[in-house]
Amino acid sequence: MALDINKIRNDFPILKQMVHNRPLVYFDNAATTQKPVKVIESMDRIYRETNSNIHRGVHHLSDLTTRHFEEARETIRKFINARHDHEIIFTPGTTAGINLVAFSFGEKYVRQGDEIIISAIEHHSNIVPWQMLCERKGAKLKIIPINDHGELLMDQYEMLFSSETRLVALTHVANSIGTINPVKKMIETAHRHEVPVLIDGAQAVQHGRVDVQDLDADFYIFSGHKMYGPTGIGVLYGKEAILDELPPYQTGGEMVDQVSFEKTTFNRLPFKFEAGTPNYIGGIGLAAAADYLQETGLDEIAAREKDLLEYGNKRLAEIGGLHLFGEAGNKISIMSFILDDIHPYDAGMIIDKYGIAVRTGNHCAQPFMERFGIRGTIRASLVFYNTHQEIDLLCEAVEKVKQMFN
Ligand code: PMP
Repeated sequence: MALDINKIRNDFPILKQMVHNRPLVYFDNAATTQKPVKVIESMDRIYRETNSNIHRGVHHLSDLTTRHFEEARETIRKFINARHDHEIIFTPGTTAGINLVAFSFGEKYVRQGDEIIISAIEHHSNIVPWQMLCERKGAKLKIIPINDHGELLMDQYEMLFSSETRLVALTHVANSIGTINPVKKMIETAHRHEVPVLIDGAQAVQHGRVDVQDLDADFYIFSGHKMYGPTGIGVLYGKEAILDELPPYQTGGEMVDQVSFEKTTFNRLPFKFEAGTPNYIGGIGLAAAADYLQETGLDEIAAREKDLLEYGNKRLAEIGGLHLFGEAGNKISIMSFILDDIHPYDAGMIIDKYGIAVRTGNHCAQPFMERFGIRGTIRASLVFYNTHQEIDLLCEAVEKVKQMFN
């Protein structure tokens, strides 16, 4: 069933405001999404009614908040269909989750001469932690190349494996141009070589169903703030058997079992990887976001966003001097483009004056920009609360930009 767009827009109070005396058009969703009332209220309720530090508290409020937090973990488990609650590690976000694995997995399994495979369309957060690990260990980064549409070259991927390959770290969806990578197939390939796979799901979980068991991902990582949840919270899913073997990343309170000045033993999963007071309010807000997505319907969301992408691509293609990047056959509703002889930053500044929020620059994907010989793009990232009328307004604003520069 099609989504009721009036109801949906009412769920997001921020969308009602005026910017520069025009109705806000929010097309910066790949950077962060707006929050529905359900998420805002879930966190507000905890602060007003039950706030107390979690775990090990014997008093009423601590017990209630602990229960809410652990229920949130179960909600997230169901959201991505993990096998066990304790495979869900709360982190501050995608970057933090990738760094955790780069450290803990790297400490345990990566040695001099080993190799790690990433792709040419990764976010900096899925490049730099591996580069640093390689520098620390004397290991080597290998890169899956892309074609002109921004799709990974599968035959080249297969050829990158060697007996030294220790891990593949790959984005599910590229934030710069929206390509959806065939991760299930790519995981199968890696497993044939007995190599585990980490998937950066920061741009994927908010656009359609993700089932980590069906994908057979070894690690799957995402951020709350990009899936209509709060900032400062994210999820690292890892298979129990692998997480059990890894050493802890950060250390301190919560993640310990017994501490003496001679020796410390560590807590069981998931707590081994959640040092310090966790962002329990964020975790509860994130679960509310997952509930909101489920109630709205991930299939319905995907269908609406596909329609928006088709309409947006068609309308933008009508504008002379506009070049779209990333025309992968399978992609999410991101339109990344440049305008002849106009710097993306200048265009973005003018587009903002029409109340339209787009992002300009390299989108934390400098190697991708280099591949195409550009400095950056103007990126309009749309989600299900956006409309055809908003796309029309963007097209009008782009025409105005062109007029001003001519
Ligand atoms: N990976 C991808 C694909 C992203 O789009 C982003 C955020 N733009 C990140 C990682 C990093 O996410 P965060 O800033 O929430 O840690």
